[in-house]
Parts: sequence; structure tokens; C-alpha cells
Amino acid sequence: MTSKEIRSTFLQFFEARQHTIVPSAPIVVKNDPTLLFTNAGMNQFKDYFLGNRTPESRRIVDTQKCLRVSGKHNDLEEVGVDTYHHTMFEMLGNWSFGDYFKKEAIEWSWRLLTEVYRIDPDQIYVTVFEGDESEGLPFDQDAYDEWSKWVETDRILKGNKKDNFWEMGDTGPCGPCSEIHIDCRSKTEREEFDGRNLVNEDHPQVIEIWNNVFMEFNRLKDGRLQELPEKHVDTGMGFERLVRVLQQKKSNYDTDVFSGTIDAIEKICGMGYQGSDSREDIAFRVLADHIRAVSFAIADGQLPSNSGAGYVIRRILRRAVRYYYSYLGSEDALLYRLVPVLSEQFEDVFPELSNQQEFVAKVMREEEESFLKTLEKGLRKIDEVIRQSQGGAVVNGQVAFELYDTFGFPIDLTRLIASENNFTVDEEGFEQEMQKQKNRSRAATSIDTGDWVILKESTGSQFVGYQDLMIETEVARYRKV
Ligand code: ATP
Ligand code: MG
Ligand code: MG
Ligand code: MG
Repeated sequence: MTSKEIRSTFLQFFEARQHTIVPSAPIVVKNDPTLLFTNAGMNQFKDYFLGNRTPESRRIVDTQKCLRVSGKHNDLEEVGVDTYHHTMFEMLGNWSFGDYFKKEAIEWSWRLLTEVYRIDPDQIYVTVFEGDESEGLPFDQDAYDEWSKWVETDRILKGNKKDNFWEMGDTGPCGPCSEIHIDCRSKTEREEFDGRNLVNEDHPQVIEIWNNVFMEFNRLKDGRLQELPEKHVDTGMGFERLVRVLQQKKSNYDTDVFSGTIDAIEKICGMGYQGSDSREDIAFRVLADHIRAVSFAIADGQLPSNSGAGYVIRRILRRAVRYYYSYLGSEDALLYRLVPVLSEQFEDVFPELSNQQEFVAKVMREEEESFLKTLEKGLRKIDEVIRQSQGGAVVNGQVAFELYDTFGFPIDLTRLIASENNFTVDEEGFEQEMQKQKNRSRAATSIDTGDWVILKESTGSQFVGYQDLMIETEVARYRKV
């Protein structure tokens, strides 16, 4: 099956079960101060779960563009290094708002994977929530019973609260989840070493593909759990991972989701992608990944900029530029030339990109060219520091700040380059330099990019450190005093 067929098969399977197909929400979140980017299919339906709005249909199916580079979900450092975490990915989801529950959700996910997609049941493990007495959370017996109708019971594994209990925040709807993991190793390998020991262990061939969340409780302010009057199902399946399983590849990047982009990069750079762990191959994967995140963010209205969500996009783009400059031998803007490949690929499902193809490419090209102007000098600067360093493999705060301020290096880029040379960055020193600049410009804003954290702004505020340097290098966190 091609990736297009795999996607439409998912949508049609649930459509045939009375689900309404709805479009993806934009990747950039504009109306929710608690979230910068959509990071899961459920974001756009949050108000349905909270009871603030009534859905037009109790059953929905979609594919949602997600971005996981900030807050609770930050996969940026895995991207390109591993073969199955992306910055931007599609999350396929089926939804029940107070309609069907565990029985149907479990049966359908099993039937879809084994009968329609024809995944060998011997490759599948499922997990159910084991319970947590200290919090008064019960073992998910219902899910276990439903699964045991389909799966051999020794393939139903118990999972802990971290992996198998979902909460929107400190209060509100929550519930156990059941995940589906696929063992992509060969039959011989599977017989030799039991795959259940590899589930949730970051094994590159034993990967989580689908999460089924069963919202059945409401967490109250005092921590108690109340049963919800209406129970909901929220599922999320990683599209690129599913394609990789079905196309029997060793890596998401070997599927037809990425091959067009990788071919195009090969042509532009005159290099071949080998799928290895070399820096060049990592660079190929990073580019193939980052171009998607940046393209869709711009198409959804988030231009690269110096703060907030815009800076996240700028950071991703600059990271990609440095990868092609350093490892693929390209000194000219390159990413913008990949936009046509993506827009054609996604024309049927996300037309927002093909509709604005030229605009997106133009913005990208300008961004690339402007960073390429200072990149070389910045790289020379950091090289010098690394070569001249006597004792202490640390890039000091002033240098990190100079790289940021003069050469446009986001701190995570400096950190990445430093770590490639077994150096660390004096982050505290960098923060202090930042703070000095902030004090100079008296620009004090406050933002928290945690997943569901309310944004607070205050005038009488005291600097309490950076919340997450991976996310916002220049946005400090303030606390009311
Ligand atoms: P993982 O443990 O692999 O990081 P997760 O538990 O964080 O995944 P969920 O929040 O349960 O993921 O999201 C639902 C599904 O979305 C996952 O089962 C997976 O298939 C997919 N997914 C999650 N993160 C990514 C990512 N960064 N890139 C691609 N697919 C992802
Ligand atoms: Mg994760
Ligand atoms: Mg997981
Ligand atoms: Mg999960």
C-alpha cells in the first residue's frame, strides 16, 4: 500500500463505522494561551471533553498535523538520530464523544490492524494500565477483558502511570490508555529474544504505533477522581510509523512518506543517502523532517520570528540550515527548493500547502539566506573556542550569547554543535547574559510553553530562570512577587 492508500484506508474504515471525517486543525494554535502548537489529535477537541462545547458528531475521524518540539512533548533531539520520532508528524485518530467506549475501540483497532492492514498478530503487543493504588487508580480490567477476546493474553502487558494513564492537566478529564506496539524484527529474532521485554524501551524495531485513551474520570481540585457522566475515546496513531510497519521498512525515512524529499535532497547536494548513522545521513533525515515542520507552520500562518511560536520555527529552520551547510556541502539556500515536492505530496490531504506554495518557499528562502550570511562566521567562532579551549570542555556563557546575539545561533544549535565536539554549554552564564540584555531593553514578557499551563503576565515580576531552553531561548519565566 502507498502511504496515501494507508491514510485513506484509516479514514474510510472509521467512516464506514459512522465517523465523520473532519480536517486537521492548523499546526499553530492561535486561540489557546496554554499551547503553542498542536501536539496531539485531541487538542482541537479539548472543549468537547471539557463539556464546554457539543460536538456536531459523536464520532469523528481525522489525521492531525502535530508538532512536538516544546513543552511536555519535545522530541527534537531524537529527530534524525532515531528513525521514528519526527518534529512534525500526522496523528491518525478516531474519536467517540460520549458514544462508544472500550469494547468497540479495541475491537476496531484490532480488526483494522490485523484484518485490513494485515499485520501479523505475532508482531503485536498491547498494554493496559496496571493501576496505581497510591492514587486510587484501578487496574484497567475492562480493557484487559476486551483485549483478551482478540489477543493472546501473554501479549497483553501491564503498563505504568507514565505510559498508560492520560491526564489533560492537574484537573479535568483523564483515564487509562492502551497502547499498541509492533515488533518489526524478523521472525527468527523474535523467537530468539522475547519482544515483550523491548516494549517501551526505545528499541528501534519495537515501536509504539497507536494509543487508545479511555477518558472515564474527572480529576477534581482536591485530587479525587469522579466518574465522568459521559465517557470518551481519544486515539492517536503515528501515521509515518504505521506506513513504515506496513511497507516493511527499517526506518520511517525509507517509506514513500519521505523518499520524494530525500531523493530531491540527493539531487541538489549530489550525495547519496545510505540510511546509516553517519552525520551525513543524520543530516538527510533532519532535513527531510524539518522541512515538513517549517513548511506546514508557515502555511498555517506562523512566520519565523524572534519570539514565541515564531522563534520555535526559526530555530528548527536554522538547525536544518546548519545541518546541510556542515554535512551536505551546501552553501546555498536549499530548503525552499523542497517545498514543491511536499506540496505535491500533500495536495489531496493538506491543500493549505499547495495553495500557498510560492509564499511558503519565499519566506523560507529569505530566512535561509539571512542565516547563511552569519552562519560561517559563527561556526568559525565556535570552532576557535573549541580548538583553543584549555581544560574544561565548556563553551562559556558570553560566547554562547555572542553566537546568539551576533550570529543568530539559537542556544540549542550552539548546544548541538558543542555536544558533537564533546563540549557542554554554560547555560547559566548564557542566561545571565540574556538577562542583562533583557534588563537593558526592559522587555519582560512571560510565556510558559508547557502543554496545558495558563499563561501569566505580571508587572511586578522576578526572574526565576528559563523554563525550558530547548523551547524558548529568549523568553524568560517570571514569577509574581
Ligand atoms: P513515544 O513513546 O514513541 O515517544 P508517545 O507515547 O509520546 O510516543 P503518544 O503521545 O501516545 O506518543 O501519541 C500517539 C502516537 O503518536 C504514538 O503512538 C506514536 O505512534 C505517534 N507519535 C508520538 N510522537 C511522535 C513523533 N515525535 N513522531 C512520530 N510519531 C509520533
Ligand atoms: Mg513521546
Ligand atoms: Mg510512549
Ligand atoms: Mg504513547
